[in-house]
Amino acid sequence: MERCAICKGQLKRHVKVSEGVKIRGWKCQNCSETFFPSSEMLRWEVLTGRRKSLARRVRVVGHSKVVTLPEKLVKEEKIHDKDLVLFEKIKDGLLLKVIHTEL
Ligand SMILES: [Zn+2]
Repeated sequence: MERCAICKGQLKRHVKVSEGVKIRGWKCQNCSETFFPSSEMLRWEVLTGRRKSLARRVRVVGHSKVVTLPEKLVKEEKIHDKDLVLFEKIKDGLLLKVIHTEL
């Protein structure tokens, strides 16, 4: 983002603190409008607890980084012991695909 979407003014990097979480974005030097990318807004929603039920913290177990599966999804997706999770890189993150080992 180089120019303000409202007045076409010059944008400068801007950090806002909201509910104790820093959000990185841009501020127009002309009209003071602020702009934040959707990735920063999502980060803010998760860190302020607005998506608590589907967010998990990465933990270290031995030399591995581990995340647990939300119980709601385990039930909905009928995930069982020994099922596999396939990680795929997508444009703005990772996609997890559950592969059931038994039908
Ligand atoms: Zn502006």
